[in-house]
Amino acid sequence: MGNSFSKTSIGLGILTVIVCIICVMLFNKINSLESDLTQLKMDMFGTHDEAALGYGSPVLNTERNTITSAGMEKVSFYEMAKDTNVNLNDSNEVVAADPYEGMIKVCFTFDDGPSANTDNILNVLDDYGVKATFFVNGKEGYDDQYKRIVEEGHAIGMHSYTHNYHDVYGSLDMFAEDLYNIQHLIKEKTGVESLLYRFPGGSSNTVSGTPMEKCIEYLDAKGIEYYDWNVASCDAVVGGLSTAQIVSNVMTPISAGGSDTYIVLFHDAQDKNTTVEALPIIIEKLAAMDNVAIVPIDEYVTPVQHVVIQN
Ligand SMILES: [Zn+2]
Repeated sequence: MGNSFSKTSIGLGILTVIVCIICVMLFNKINSLESDLTQLKMDMFGTHDEAALGYGSPVLNTERNTITSAGMEKVSFYEMAKDTNVNLNDSNEVVAADPYEGMIKVCFTFDDGPSANTDNILNVLDDYGVKATFFVNGKEGYDDQYKRIVEEGHAIGMHSYTHNYHDVYGSLDMFAEDLYNIQHLIKEKTGVESLLYRFPGGSSNTVSGTPMEKCIEYLDAKGIEYYDWNVASCDAVVGGLSTAQIVSNVMTPISAGGSDTYIVLFHDAQDKNTTVEALPIIIEKLAAMDNVAIVPIDEYVTPVQHVVIQN
């Protein structure tokens, strides 16, 4: 009797273990099917149960998956951007990644050229492999310099055709005509349609006879971006500055830090020899700093603007 009871107990025990194993298997199967179903929903509708999958960013997820008419999953540009390190612009088009992202950018800008000094400036930049931005005026006799600026990889911007405050700012029509003239001249000499502008006297000048907001709106309508500066070398002061003073004017604010973009104002003008002499010293000092890149102005450089229209 005791033996029979013991046998029954062992039988029940084995049965319990078998039932438990079956339960665990079924439970796992259900989990697996639920997971498949979630994946299927993602593939078909481009959505998924954020809470179940533990994703925290609905903005990111809205672009993850789209579906074509044939029902095939299509990887969105977002995924491509993530996988291949390219960026998207506002229209979701793929654009190249900013090679200097995360670095402190220093942009050398030279106003008022071309001049008898342009070649000297270009030679120094070429020696160091540094690219800059030249905001030029309309001048006769400098065809080679306009061309050289572009051919050597620098950015070319507009600084008005005449640089005569009355002719540039006398009225909005005069501003528009002057702008056309300098843009046309640059196109003719270099083949580049420049979309960069620096206002004579800067956007915060007090000499304009036309409200600067009107000029800014006009540039905006033409797709032209304007750039002021946040570092002034002050090399245009009457009588000139010593090389050491120019170096100090440029390096002091940059060394102090506080910005990730420094747009440095220099002048490309005859007899400004100390500007040319200061350049190698400044370049070497910047090169010795951590995480600093000297770059020409491009779409990745955040504009520095003294007057900003509030939309
Ligand atoms: Zn100027």
